[in-house]
Amino acid sequence: MSEILFIDFAEVCSKIEELSGSIAITEIVSDFFKCLDDDELSIASHFIMGKVFPEWSPYEMGVGPGLLYEAAKLAYTVGKNEINDILRSTGDIGRTFQELSKRRTQQTLFVEKLTIKSVNASFVEIAKREGKGSQKMKIRLLADLFLQATPLEARYLARLVLEELRIGVGEGIVRDAIARAFEVDVRLVERALMITNDPGVVATFSRNYGNDGLESVELYPMRPVKMMLAQVAEGIEDALTQIPSPAIEWKFDGTRVQIHKYDGEIKIYSRKLENVTKSIPEIVAVVKREFVADSVILDGEVIAIDEDGKPRPFQDILRRFRRKYRVEEMQNLIPLHLHIFDILYLDGRTLIDLPLSERRQILEKIAVSGDAPIAEHYLVEDVSAIETIYNEAIDAGHEGVMVKNRDSRYTPGKRGKNWLKIKPLMETLDLVVVGGEWGEGRRANLIGSYTLACLDPERDKLLKIGRVGTGLTDEKLLEFTEIFSDLVIGEDGSEIVFKPAIVFELAYEEIQKSTKYDSGYALRFPRVIRLREDKSVEDADTIERVERLYKKRFE
Ligand code: AMP
Repeated sequence: MSEILFIDFAEVCSKIEELSGSIAITEIVSDFFKCLDDDELSIASHFIMGKVFPEWSPYEMGVGPGLLYEAAKLAYTVGKNEINDILRSTGDIGRTFQELSKRRTQQTLFVEKLTIKSVNASFVEIAKREGKGSQKMKIRLLADLFLQATPLEARYLARLVLEELRIGVGEGIVRDAIARAFEVDVRLVERALMITNDPGVVATFSRNYGNDGLESVELYPMRPVKMMLAQVAEGIEDALTQIPSPAIEWKFDGTRVQIHKYDGEIKIYSRKLENVTKSIPEIVAVVKREFVADSVILDGEVIAIDEDGKPRPFQDILRRFRRKYRVEEMQNLIPLHLHIFDILYLDGRTLIDLPLSERRQILEKIAVSGDAPIAEHYLVEDVSAIETIYNEAIDAGHEGVMVKNRDSRYTPGKRGKNWLKIKPLMETLDLVVVGGEWGEGRRANLIGSYTLACLDPERDKLLKIGRVGTGLTDEKLLEFTEIFSDLVIGEDGSEIVFKPAIVFELAYEEIQKSTKYDSGYALRFPRVIRLREDKSVEDADTIERVERLYKKRFE
């Protein structure tokens, strides 16, 4: 097999972009996968989803639109104004780079053609540059890449660098394409994807070892796996009709952690799967002291507590989790508590396919004593008993309760119906900020309003649902303008398009049907409650939840 060029990848992207049906797209992706050797397959399977590195990878590009424009200036010897003009006329960062590459006057002689592997190697080089002077090096390396790229390559390279490929290929299509290309069972592909968090591994495994190989895929301690998520239930009765014999736990008001132990060492990952071990040494110590296991993966919530033992605001937890220096000092100031509620792996055995009730027994068995920080778990089935637990949780300053299906598997990364959360009313929505608009008059230099979108996980799309602006103080507008200025990937007049990266929590008066936005809904009087720093785009609310909240009005 000859080495696959980056232009082959770019052409596949371009073909896919012209299609809309997922079957046709799956076919193209699947045929492409078949042409690749193992290394290329490992890379292309996340490139095609617009991911520079697999999610568990320690590497991060650290390149936002700002740096990318700097690279464009260097590679194409243009000024920011010219770039802005093109951005305005094309409305898209990919097409902007394609145009810049076309206009390039100075041609480099004897450039080597880009291959999938060489682009990946450059990405690793760029990611490795950290610390002082690294920005300049990153710009230089990026500019070198663009100098080697043809216009079509530049288009997809720019979008890939920002992880904004937007050709409509998500995990579902990659899953189906792998199953089709290597003739393996799609359900086994799905399970392996959940476990490894790495489509490259799953694709090469499928080709080389077939269904048997996929069945033998296990979790690895020290490699984080996506966390299982919860859906909202609209009250206790609603939860009980969905899960008649549940296990009830408090919904602790803290932040999620996944704890890995291997060979005496412990690593802790945040909800976004960042390694936060160093900033929370007391949690490391508790796990070492309170659980007996050679290797284990635990799931739980860390809360920050005040003098009365009540949970402190989320901002305080962030002050602990972000800290690199003076960790000890902060330990006294903002003490943390751990509550473990699940176990995914123990001493060489993956446990996620076991029912929750069995996982729970295993978890209790590895506790050194009754003091182990395991969340209380109540097996109750009637409304009033659950109400009591709910009220206790609220009185203790927590968020409500989780209603879990005792018979359910642990499904990493999935927001299924086996974990339901019940919180007090005043439903807020977590929405992705996808665009904005420059203000007017006194606020001309500020982004005055923001366009919001919810998720359509089935189609791997973001659907717009409204705009929020009024009600933000000048101070907040300034703070947000600074954050969002680095995420601009398109402009049209005063309208701005952002790389979807930030999630706002919104309150609103009501949800209405609307033809104005592609979600089919709009929010009346939306108000920003806060920026959800702990949430990534995938954690935002779905169109399904919006529809449910809308219908609730008529019940
Ligand atoms: P939300 O952030 O509103 O989507 O609610 C889900 C989150 O609740 C999880 O990601 C956990 O961080 C948190 N949580 C608190 N207590 C529990 C619990 N007992 N079981 C599962 N998740 C919990």
